[in-house]
Parts: sequence; C-alpha cells; structure tokens
Amino acid sequence: MSHDPNCIFCKIVAGQIPSKKAFEDEDLIVFHDIQPWAPVHVLIVPKLHIVSHADLGPEHQSLAGKMMVLAPKLMRDLGVSGGFRTLINTGRDGGQEVMHLHMHVMGGPRPWAKG
Ligand code: 5GP
Ligand code: ZN
Repeated sequence: MSHDPNCIFCKIVAGQIPSKKAFEDEDLIVFHDIQPWAPVHVLIVPKLHIVSHADLGPEHQSLAGKMMVLAPKLMRDLGVSGGFRTLINTGRDGGQEVMHLHMHVMGGPRPWAKG
C-alpha cells in the first residue's frame, strides 16, 4: 500500500492534517514533531507508506540513504551546530507509536544530557 487513508503521517503527506514543514521533495517530507523532546525535533518521513524500518527491502536502498543524508543538512539549515541525535523506533517492542516509517532528528542543547 503506497498510501493508507487511516495513517496520520499519510494524512500529513496529503496535506489533510497541518504540520510545520521543514523540508519537502518528491520522496520525503520533514516536519517538526508535535511533542518535541529537544529544542529542534523533526521527523524525516518517506511519502510512501512504509510501516516501519523492518519493512525496508533492497528496493528502498536509495530512499533510506536519502533519509540518512538529509539529516545533517537539515540540522545545518535549522541552525543546529553542536551535534544531533537520530532515532528510529521500530515495532511495538521498539516503542513505535506511529506505524509509518520515520526518523527522529533531535538537536540543540540536550535536556537529557548526562553530566
Ligand atoms: P514514534 O514513537 O512512533 O517513533 O514517534 C511518533 C512521533 O510522532 C512522536 O514523537 C509524536 O509526538 C509525533 N506525532 C504524532 N502525531 C503527530 C502529528 O499529528 N503531528 C506531528 N507533527 N507529530 C506527530
Ligand atoms: Zn502512512
């Protein structure tokens, strides 16, 4: 399924639910997380409805690479200079809540920093 009408991120891709967009091209959309855990917290989301990281196959190689390569550019564009964290939750035991693949990218001074 390339689009799931019941999926919240597919609705954001389709413009049916508003979001604060940081980037968009033909394959990916990036928007700010509605409940940020860091001063800058965006989600890199493929426009294609792929349920999770566990559903990626060889045909997704370039799409997955594009997500990875976009993260540092986004952080630079959003003024993050001190490093960032990337996170992909996968499946129930991986803590995934929205069942449409997404990469969290979090930057800015870390409230969760140890020491
Ligand atoms: P997960 O636990 O699936 O990795 O993370 C899902 C993320 O999506 C959460 O951080 C949550 O705050 C975010 N989120 C859920 N619904 C919406 C929404 O409607 N808009 C935006 N911008 N973020 C959302
Ligand atoms: Zn979806």
